[in-house]
Amino acid sequence: MSGDRRTDGGTEQAPDAEAGADGGRGSRFAPADRVASVPPSGIREFFEVAEKRDDVISLGVGEPDFTAPWPARSAAVDSLERGRTSYTANRGTVELRRAIAERVTRYGQSYDPDEEILVTTGASEAVDLAFRAFVNPGDTVALPTPTYVSYEPGVRFAGGDPLPVHTHHEDDWALTPESLYDAGVDEADVLVLCYPNNPTGATMDADEMDAVADFCREHDLLVIADEIYAALTYDGDHESVATRPGMRERTVVINGFSKAYAMTGLRLGYAMGPPEAVAAMTKVHQYTMLSAPTTAQHAALAALDRCDDDVEQMRREYDRRRRYVVSRLREVGLDVSEPGGAFYAFPRVADVAPDGDARAFATELLDAEGVAAVPGTAFGEGGEGHIRISYATGLDDLKEAMARLERFLAES
Ligand code: PMP
Repeated sequence: MSGDRRTDGGTEQAPDAEAGADGGRGSRFAPADRVASVPPSGIREFFEVAEKRDDVISLGVGEPDFTAPWPARSAAVDSLERGRTSYTANRGTVELRRAIAERVTRYGQSYDPDEEILVTTGASEAVDLAFRAFVNPGDTVALPTPTYVSYEPGVRFAGGDPLPVHTHHEDDWALTPESLYDAGVDEADVLVLCYPNNPTGATMDADEMDAVADFCREHDLLVIADEIYAALTYDGDHESVATRPGMRERTVVINGFSKAYAMTGLRLGYAMGPPEAVAAMTKVHQYTMLSAPTTAQHAALAALDRCDDDVEQMRREYDRRRRYVVSRLREVGLDVSEPGGAFYAFPRVADVAPDGDARAFATELLDAEGVAAVPGTAFGEGGEGHIRISYATGLDDLKEAMARLERFLAES
């Protein structure tokens, strides 16, 4: 295991098997139907095996291997030394909201810090708030798949019906109006967009985003755009759906500090949208969370003010690793589409896996060579036959992992 890093996938940690099952029916703690309806994720069981061994290189984690930049940490320490230990305004400190408003102009976004920005406890809270604020029981929420593990449970907890929209390796995981029509999204209520994407690393170019925006307007969809990887793009600028004509008024944009600033443990994110959207989410937030962690808000303000160079250094390092991993995967004979953002590669293993089963492949790779990668099935329909490799792992470990993978493929 590299350093003392966990292998459980961070925020992608799966629920305990018991909590996800409907076991306990008839007991005092029988989970409510909407909780019981969420199946246990396959990730945890898999990483429990990895944790028991000390020779494992984990390519499974969905979080940076860097430590948060010093100016952010120092601002957190300073805020504590000054005794800033109270709640902040429900929506977050005004200084932080102003800094966020200023920052997102680089993506062509313009939001009023007083009425259109809500600071949340991680992007995770913002995703949950958006589902709870806008999804009515029985509403259809379209999720392009493979997809980030938390959306489907979040939709179900809110009483909505997830609708998978398949994207394909052959198309570089592109989301198109055709794929949206094929899945019946023209009849849906909400569409979740996650670009740059977890788990595929796919990004959208300007034309692709225009086409998806046209579809959303035409079919009157509310859009939840999770842009947490916006700062980590490698082949072009981040494209936001909210900047397309007529889209700002129907889109909630979610972003955060976990990925770009390596601040996962500080738990800070934000949601942006028209005043009525932010008011609805703030209503839930003010009763359930009150305010995001005060110390983390101080760190985040410093991150925005003083950490541009650190972010750029980390982005360059991810880019270096991305090029290395993609070229090595291809060299060892795996087909992988070029990830344009985030820190994941999603190679196809169907042709080399037992019965084309990515889970069996990942299990054998872990058993035989001590390399942990997440089977694509963990990311919903459409992930079959693939594994997710995170390159938020140092280059030395990546080199060793690729050598082991090569040996595994040669011997199997
Ligand atoms: N959205 C996506 C797409 C993610 O990958 C993650 C983290 N794995 C999150 C949201 C959650 O981020 P946070 O730490 O800000 O809650």
